[in-house]
Amino acid sequence: MGVDLDTRLRTVVGAGAKRLEDARGLRTVADLLNFLPRTYLDPARSTSFREIPHGEDVVVVGTVTEAVLHQMRARKGRMLVVTVSDEFGGRIKLTFFKPFGHQDRLVPGARVVCSGQVGTYKETLQLTHPDYAVLDDPTGKSSGGWLLGGLVPVYPATPRLSPIVHGDLLDLVLHALTDLPDPLPEDVRARKGLPDLLEAYTLVHRPRTEADHRRARWRLKYQEAFVIQAALARARLASDATPAVPRTPVPGGLVDALLDRLPFELTDGQRAVLQEIHDDLRRDVPMHRLLQGEVGSGKTVLALLAMLTVVDAGGQAALLAPTEVLASQHHRGITAMLGPIAEGGMLGGMDNGTRVALLTGSQSAAERRKALLAAASGEAGIVIGTHALIQDTVQLAELGLVVVDEQHRFGVEQRDALRAKAALAPHVLVMTATPIPRTVAMTVYGDMTTSTLRELPRGRQPITTHVVTGEKERWVGRAWVRVAEEVRGGGQVYVVCPRIGAEDDPDLPAGSTVGPGLPMSPRGQGAPATDTDADADADAPAIEDGTADGGDDEDVAGPGPQLHGVHQVARALRALPATRDLRLEELHGRMTGEEKDRVMRAFSAGEVDVLVSTTVIEVGVDVPDATTMVVLDADRFGISQLHQLRGRVGRGGRPGLCLLVTQGHEGDPGAVERLQQVAATTDGFELARLDLETRREGDVLGATQSGGRSGLRFLRLARDEDLIVEAHEAAWATVEADPDLATLPALRRELDRLDAERAAFLERG
Ligand code: ADP
Ligand code: MG
Repeated sequence: MGVDLDTRLRTVVGAGAKRLEDARGLRTVADLLNFLPRTYLDPARSTSFREIPHGEDVVVVGTVTEAVLHQMRARKGRMLVVTVSDEFGGRIKLTFFKPFGHQDRLVPGARVVCSGQVGTYKETLQLTHPDYAVLDDPTGKSSGGWLLGGLVPVYPATPRLSPIVHGDLLDLVLHALTDLPDPLPEDVRARKGLPDLLEAYTLVHRPRTEADHRRARWRLKYQEAFVIQAALARARLASDATPAVPRTPVPGGLVDALLDRLPFELTDGQRAVLQEIHDDLRRDVPMHRLLQGEVGSGKTVLALLAMLTVVDAGGQAALLAPTEVLASQHHRGITAMLGPIAEGGMLGGMDNGTRVALLTGSQSAAERRKALLAAASGEAGIVIGTHALIQDTVQLAELGLVVVDEQHRFGVEQRDALRAKAALAPHVLVMTATPIPRTVAMTVYGDMTTSTLRELPRGRQPITTHVVTGEKERWVGRAWVRVAEEVRGGGQVYVVCPRIGAEDDPDLPAGSTVGPGLPMSPRGQGAPATDTDADADADAPAIEDGTADGGDDEDVAGPGPQLHGVHQVARALRALPATRDLRLEELHGRMTGEEKDRVMRAFSAGEVDVLVSTTVIEVGVDVPDATTMVVLDADRFGISQLHQLRGRVGRGGRPGLCLLVTQGHEGDPGAVERLQQVAATTDGFELARLDLETRREGDVLGATQSGGRSGLRFLRLARDEDLIVEAHEAAWATVEADPDLATLPALRRELDRLDAERAAFLERG
């Protein structure tokens, strides 16, 4: 039986497979082949040893110039010290405390490749008990033969696995392979002049020249992009094959009634997008449209118009929000905007008006029953809730449109589940305020068509952002004075903290300026938490978007100094002379839905001046009088997240102010610079691009498509735009020509593998 990608390494390399698995988790031929070199060394042009940084894992190539056995003073036995020189006069010493077996191989004149961690001893570089291979070994040992004649591949350092053993095992595998089924269609390969799969793996692991491995890498990336695009194309074709009910706009209906009622004109951008949505809704294939636009760009109005279009045409629409706070807020906002339009059948309501039903977990059973009934009977044209609720409990008589607010908490699988609720596929409109760079849109939302709102409605107030660093204690003090001034001027203030903390967190320093000099709580120093409630705060990993897991909020924590907690900061502000007279409330994910709702309502009504909260307020919250935001430990938040957060202010008639307070962060030297970048621009697309550059792809995919694909292997979304566009075009053409991939079994198998990976990823949670 031939060896292929799924073959277990054990059957190819025998006992050595255990080392690969233990050290690196490599189990199959594909695992080993896809573990790519980090870089390559050119033995013909090795850099001087003098430039080798200490403490690094290196591979060096040189010639043995001296080999001496020393009698050790402190203990019995002898030590072998071998001097290896490079052609630039640099020297490095190899030391072996057990010379046996080495002294007859490391003889002057031998060319060697050695690897290990570089140390220094008496000012000479040295490697202690390094791995090495002797090229043209006089004793005829075959190890390391692959090092001859080409570039030397250097893999990410792997403890417990000698690079030379790794290379020898890889050699066995490469020799065992005679050909590999290639997921890339031959015509695509020919057109682009790409090596086939086996050749690509050979070139990337055993290149003779730089050009070899570049070409091979490009091809592997291209394949990854191609396979993803093919999967998206097939998903799109499949869903286009499911019919949807066309919802043709009806003149003189609720849409026109709302347009008449709105106190403003739609912007040109909004008008254009509404047209695109109407064109989609007219068709008998389901709409899959992603609507992206800055916070405040007027997406919600458009969504409402889309929903009313469907209601006019006899259908129902569901609006799914990521959190209960947002669902309630949408309900309030939409009901107010609709006025009599949403009072169908009620006194003073519009004759042919509709109803808006809200479903939340914190409703009373009676309220919930009423809402469910209104939804099921079709009396409510619009149903609003969190996706969990709507997915699990609601029956919709005539679901025609699903609007998803903030896609990054809503993955493909949830979309599928909802789609399954209606006999015919509903149209889907997804709104996101996180601007999505083109490559991410194509890779993550490639099965959707994108609309973008670029202009903000007129009258939008600018937001000014300042970075306040903790060491400038007076500045932080001034920040709180500024907060008090804002409130006196009629504004409201958000104070955002990275964690909730415990009620009994230590006080901030007396007369504190909240910011610098935060005391370390015992937990911060790694002592075990004493109460269960604190567990959530302990060592939760830093999260980039606060949205990755679909929860209401999540504490952002990590190594470093203790971070500000909501309880602690609220207490400090109640004591601080500048702020103690302000009306202050807390908001965080550990409160019940009802409590959160009460606080949000009070804040919206202007009964609260300062809201101290976690990122629970991040998405979509709209309080026009909120003018100021103070983000504490701002360095712990991602670029896009900060941009989202500050979008909460300046939504009314007054300009917004955002203060990013940071104590600096030793483990993250780029932190302050990142904050400066956020302060320097309000262009969300620019920031999204920056974000992409500073984050790993796995995070991007994880955060934008919760529960989605497990990550990318070779592609870098920040850098590979051209390649992704090319692969997109080729893959969609391929799938359109042969939707069942009957002529492309290898591509089919690769897509199945992708599905399986995704399923496994979802099972793991
Ligand atoms: P988004 O959902 O994109 O964050 P919203 O739809 O909530 O934005 O709009 C933000 C605010 O701007 C709302 O108060 C909304 O009523 C208002 N608005 C929307 N479109 C316009 C427009 N064309 N002109 C003026 N104000 C608008
Ligand atoms: Mg919105």
